[in-house]
Amino acid sequence: MKAIVDCGLCIACGLCENVCPEVFKLEGDCAQVIADPVPADAEGQAVQATGDCPTTAIKIEG
Ligand code: SF4
Repeated sequence: MKAIVDCGLCIACGLCENVCPEVFKLEGDCAQVIADPVPADAEGQAVQATGDCPTTAIKIEG
């Protein structure tokens, strides 16, 4: 599983980092993906963060 953040959509709300700090880290005005691939034990949280993102900036592949 791979997570991708579209910085054109991200509003830097920090929600993804709160939900899944293993994978997402807020850097300036865009969340960065710091774990690629997503660790198996973080997949559930990564999917939750993707669904919770207010601007649908996160995409999950694989
Ligand atoms: Fe950006 Fe979405 Fe993460 Fe908020 S939840 S920081 S909008 S990627």
